[in-house]
Amino acid sequence: MRLNFYHFVFVGVLLIGRIDVTSMTPWLAPIVWEGTFDPTLIDSIYKQQNITIATTVFALGKYTRFLRDFLESAEQHYFVGFRMHCYLLTDQPEAVPDVKLGIERQLRVRTVPRMYRWQDITMGRMGMIAKLTENELATEADYIFCLDVDTKFYGHWSVEALGSLVGVIHPWFYNYQRNQFTYERRPESQAFIRAEEGDYYYAGGAFGGSVQEVHKLTRPFSEQQNIDAANSIEAVWHDESHLNKYFLYNKPTKVLSPEYLWRNINARTNEVTTIRFYIVNKNNDEVRSNF
Ligand code: UDP
Ligand code: MN
Repeated sequence: MRLNFYHFVFVGVLLIGRIDVTSMTPWLAPIVWEGTFDPTLIDSIYKQQNITIATTVFALGKYTRFLRDFLESAEQHYFVGFRMHCYLLTDQPEAVPDVKLGIERQLRVRTVPRMYRWQDITMGRMGMIAKLTENELATEADYIFCLDVDTKFYGHWSVEALGSLVGVIHPWFYNYQRNQFTYERRPESQAFIRAEEGDYYYAGGAFGGSVQEVHKLTRPFSEQQNIDAANSIEAVWHDESHLNKYFLYNKPTKVLSPEYLWRNINARTNEVTTIRFYIVNKNNDEVRSNF
């Protein structure tokens, strides 16, 4: 067989991964894109470790409607073959659909008080995750991911995503410049980030890490929210703004590409050809009105 240019490109990509995207942060944390890892090899490494992965997902008010697709698609794509305990926090346990789970997969429903403002719900998740990771999860699980419920899995999401502190690059900002990131820019807020600071714009809809690191991350949120409230300010994107502030000073040890929280099932860009988990369409005004 004659070797041509394309054979060399193919071999090059196999050796170094992707050439069209950055697969390493400036602090040498991997950025996980399709084509930068060998799923079979990584699976076999973690299979020997007997790990438990916890997941938190919140469904309050009208958001219980997203649960069936979320849970059923997780069975197809998310940590398949690993011990996975999903903590579902809801104000309506009776609305949780009956989804058949695979072996070593559990759904633990926890009832939480009803809340009315969607801003309080999204931000309030952090305090509840802090409590869970301090108590029952502290000894039960090794890793945890905290995910939005208005989502659906569509492709492989497994142990390649594990790390002690893991952020996901927000799907709308991965190819934007820092000055376009929607960080909190008002110095009065605890989530304030200076114009010349910031690495990536991370999504609030998916993050994770070791249970201990996620506890450290979530613990200060309630207090920061209280300080902001006392100063009559609420961070522009709530928990997402505070998360971006945290990741600025506590760099993730692994960064997931927007394949891990993509915009929409029909959207594709040159870089994002594999979709693992995506945001489903919703009418924000309708679904967030709880009054
Ligand atoms: N959420 C909820 N009920 C609400 C509002 C929000 O359960 O009334 C939870 C749900 O898990 C949701 C997350 O908070 O995925 C974040 O809110 P949302 O998805 O509306 O924010 P967005 O992703 O649109 O910024
Ligand atoms: Mn969402």
